[in-house]
Amino acid sequence: MSILARNCSTQFLTNFVLGSSLGKKERSFDAIVIGGGHAGTEAAAVLSRMGHKTLLLTHNKQSVGQMSCNPAIGGVGKGHLTKEIDALGGLMARAADLAGIHLKTLNASKGKAVQATRAQADRSLYKQAIQSQLKEHTNLSLAEGAASKVLLEGDALRGIETESGERYYSKRLVLTVGTFLNGVIHTGREQISGGRKGDKPSIVLAKQLLEISPRTGRLKTGTPPRLLRSSINFGLLQEQAGDIPRPVFSFMSSRADHPEQVSCYITHTNEETHKIIRDSLKDSPLHTGAIEGVGPRYCPSIEDKVIKFAEKTRHQIFVEPEGLGSNEVYPNGISTSIEAKKQEEFVRSIVGFENAKITQSGYAIEYDYFDPRDLNPTFETKTIAGLYFAGQINGTTGYEEAAGQGIVAGINAGRSSMGDAPWVPRRDEAFLGVLIDDLVTKGVDEPYRLFTSRAEFRLLLRQDNCLDRLGGRALELGLLDEKQRHLLARSKKELERIRNWVEKSRVTPEEMASYLGSVGGSPLKETSPLARVLLRPEVRLAELVHPGGLFAEVDFDSDALATVEMDLKYAGYVARDLERAEALEQRGETPLRADLPYESFESLSFEARQKLSAVQPETLGQASRIPGISPADLQNLLVEIKKNADRTKVRA
Ligand code: FAD
Repeated sequence: MSILARNCSTQFLTNFVLGSSLGKKERSFDAIVIGGGHAGTEAAAVLSRMGHKTLLLTHNKQSVGQMSCNPAIGGVGKGHLTKEIDALGGLMARAADLAGIHLKTLNASKGKAVQATRAQADRSLYKQAIQSQLKEHTNLSLAEGAASKVLLEGDALRGIETESGERYYSKRLVLTVGTFLNGVIHTGREQISGGRKGDKPSIVLAKQLLEISPRTGRLKTGTPPRLLRSSINFGLLQEQAGDIPRPVFSFMSSRADHPEQVSCYITHTNEETHKIIRDSLKDSPLHTGAIEGVGPRYCPSIEDKVIKFAEKTRHQIFVEPEGLGSNEVYPNGISTSIEAKKQEEFVRSIVGFENAKITQSGYAIEYDYFDPRDLNPTFETKTIAGLYFAGQINGTTGYEEAAGQGIVAGINAGRSSMGDAPWVPRRDEAFLGVLIDDLVTKGVDEPYRLFTSRAEFRLLLRQDNCLDRLGGRALELGLLDEKQRHLLARSKKELERIRNWVEKSRVTPEEMASYLGSVGGSPLKETSPLARVLLRPEVRLAELVHPGGLFAEVDFDSDALATVEMDLKYAGYVARDLERAEALEQRGETPLRADLPYESFESLSFEARQKLSAVQPETLGQASRIPGISPADLQNLLVEIKKNADRTKVRA
């Protein structure tokens, strides 16, 4: 029986304190996870599901699963990660369903390949959903405490010691301490030590980690002020309802699992807001030089936006509920660290916020991260066997990126303790593979966020096929419980049934005539395999299988139907992508001229243009090693170089 179960049986996360009277044996674990955030909870859960006796040691049991910033899960790239974590049996997607109070499919008007799910969550329901899932894990114990020292004998890992001197023993340690290492919180000229507001930083631990893994740096992130809901004039804001029908995140969930749904709202900053912000900059830590860490490029503070996009007269703000019972809202888009009084002034200049009351000021936080190039792709440190780093400590930003690292680190810590070979997803297998490969080969020079554009196999890595891509792996690795195994088998069976049916079906020109006419397609010349007809972009399988359609008699699951269709439609493009990736790898020595006008190469991402201009790499291989340059950027770079050479020839 776990220590947890013995001490407080059903009272998981409410009463549990590990008694100091316990002997060394009871303090010994197959694996210990430090930190109950997004990386830590996934790592602890997966270790326990794999049958390992696991301890989750964290500052405060009440904050296990806490969302430090925006209460939202998913979006493009992040939603894909969430569904991949789900396919591996993780917690995040299920929690997003149980807590999701506003769900949307992003890019709904575009093809399935680029669609992504996003949930605005009730912050406290989310935490509850993570905690209640953890409660179901029988091998899992929880202890409160601040880890302060990794216990080593020479280079051999022995366990962890807390600030109060308690020791826990294990040869596998997964460290997921987020923004807490030497965390400093900035608001205007005020600076306080903290891991996030209300939590103390990990200073002693940070010092020792420097000896273990000396390549380190400072990064920063920020959060907006929270507003009192009742002080906002919603009548002046633009309402945005969630989608109908609502998307569902987890393969374990259904729409019935979602709580009550509510709307989000939109408003904008204006020129007066920008003036107040500009006038406050002299006291802003970003501009006084108090903050040295690099912030997230894709989530800039409102100060940054006002300065960098000086020509813009307004910036959008999503007014998002913090929860169903909460009287706070989260104004997404105005993250700030200027002086608290000035925050109130600029907030009140915004339409709908004229009488807004700030319940918690915005702030920026600076923290240490460790260079992920010092990790193996399993997230094990190269210096100490059995010590894993996962989450924001590796220079990433975002809950989903952290959770993804947590589950992979947990899987590998578990496998290593059994003497099993590591498992690391490949770049063409999962966005998780892209994230890992980017981190450990290129490192980071700013907080890393996953975008679909970082992947070269986007048509393969869709959100609709996560379970199909990774479910089999999860089964082999022993990550799924009985219910998950049953649902996976059902899903596989349905996909197989549809694939077989498509493969066997043929259609005649007469049968297809009216449908093809209605979608503007040219008539069929002869009886053809359905699989071939489906390659036409205008032909939609769902429309043929529709009650009034050609195959009205068949009855298939609509999501599985869409997956089979996308696989067919994209197969040719995927093969081409694979070929291109191979070709790119062989062209590493291709020289890059020093005078290339990178800034004018519009098919490259803004980040790539900026970084290539700054670094001026000598070869394509060197360009590929710059953090933030994706394989897609490199493909586009080759095309742009050719176009540029052709233009130069014409001019000559
Ligand atoms: P966390 O979720 O931070 O969890 C760390 C856990 O470790 C906590 O439970 C903590 O109590 C515990 N811990 C720390 N030190 C110790 C110790 N010594 N002993 C025991 N336990 C310890 N992401 C975005 O994508 N967009 C944003 O806009 C954004 N804004 C943010 C704003 C702020 C102010 C903060 C703090 C974070 C923000 N983030 C944002 C980042 C996001 O919150 C993190 O990426 C994510 O929470 C990282 O997950 P994690 O598991 O690595 O760490």
